Amino acid sequence: MGIEKFKELDPIYTQPYDPTLAEKLYNPEKPMENRITDIGPPYFWQFMPPVIQKNYGKWVSHEIIQPGVLKYKSETGDVVYVVRCGTPRLETTDYIREICEIADKYCGGYVRWTTRNNVEFHVTDEETLKALIEDLKNRKHPNGSYKFPIGGTGAGISNIVHTQGWIHCHTPAIDASGIVKAIMDELFEYFGSHKLPAKTKLALACCLNMCGAVHCSDLALVGIHRKPPLVEDERLEHVCEIPLVIASCPLGAIKPATAEVDGKKKKTVRINVDRCMFCGNCYTMCPALPIADGEGDGIAIVVGGKVSNRITPPEFSRVVIPYIPNEPPRWPTTVKWIKKIIEIYSQHANKYERIGTWINRIGWERFFELTGIPFTEKCIDDYRLAYTTYRTSMHFKFTKHVDEVFNAPENYKVELFK
Ligand code: SF4
Ligand code: SF4
Repeated sequence: MGIEKFKELDPIYTQPYDPTLAEKLYNPEKPMENRITDIGPPYFWQFMPPVIQKNYGKWVSHEIIQPGVLKYKSETGDVVYVVRCGTPRLETTDYIREICEIADKYCGGYVRWTTRNNVEFHVTDEETLKALIEDLKNRKHPNGSYKFPIGGTGAGISNIVHTQGWIHCHTPAIDASGIVKAIMDELFEYFGSHKLPAKTKLALACCLNMCGAVHCSDLALVGIHRKPPLVEDERLEHVCEIPLVIASCPLGAIKPATAEVDGKKKKTVRINVDRCMFCGNCYTMCPALPIADGEGDGIAIVVGGKVSNRITPPEFSRVVIPYIPNEPPRWPTTVKWIKKIIEIYSQHANKYERIGTWINRIGWERFFELTGIPFTEKCIDDYRLAYTTYRTSMHFKFTKHVDEVFNAPENYKVELFK
């Protein structure tokens, strides 16, 4: 459907924009009067650059002409250059206005964001491309950070898909924006280059709800708790639906209870602490079960996930480091391990191998050995289908972990094998 048809169907978009319209239409005395609803998002076609509209469905090839810059060719002979820039995702309106100003100057007012929250500018000739790149390179925040670093293409590290953290959510165990900034600073060279064996996708979620992509990323961070929730008996029955709380626990660790508070009987719950794995699900359902704890909370690192079907099927990522403490504002231990994993992967993987594909080839024991990550029982699955993750084969490599078991003190071995 072309823009003309769209205008015909939705004439509101052809009327001049009136910033006071909402106020004029809204009457708190009659909230349902003039109410506009179920209109959905604006039709995407109207925001596409004319060259993209013209060549829609006609593209024949593309190439990455330098990190962050793609060239698309159409069967009509048209060419489009795309410049991809990193953004912090959390953006001020001033920052967005600046993006619009750049789009107005070089791209006829058109701009788009990617599925990893990078921003992309489209131009159709090399001269404008050069001017755009030069301009973007020179835009910096007062503290020196690049506003629009160019990159995020090919076999490098693009933006980190991340979440709300301490900026906006009530269930996080870690921050999002702060950790992402610390990691991207350290891995910045990989954003603007193609020196890794394959594209490497990073993600962060600040709790086990895993908003985003941590469960399916090459390398990801998840916020975890290590202590059970606190039960606020005095208010629980007033703010929580107890059956919902009980049903929210993946381990059946919650049971209904009655407690006496100031001489009054209160309906509440009790948590079997030995069964609790601190997922925080019950707090999501019930505000009277707070779980956040400065000293208990921290980061788990998971690796080896992917979404694409290229060469091997999609895979979930798996825990390799079960806990690193929160260390705001720069999270140095976390950053150190992330960098180390990337470097070891970079040195050892073959071309086109994603982190998970590489690990599947060399074996998990070898991954732990190469990275120097201490292997602990925390990485051994013990939830329902855990059996499928154990080794049911004699195929393994004699890594230092095996040596450690065989050279361990006798009583340790007994403990281990009993
Ligand atoms: S991952 Fe958890 S803490 Fe983070 S935004 Fe999602 S629900 Fe909130
Ligand atoms: S934190 Fe998770 S495991 Fe623990 S009681 Fe709540 S829901 Fe159950």
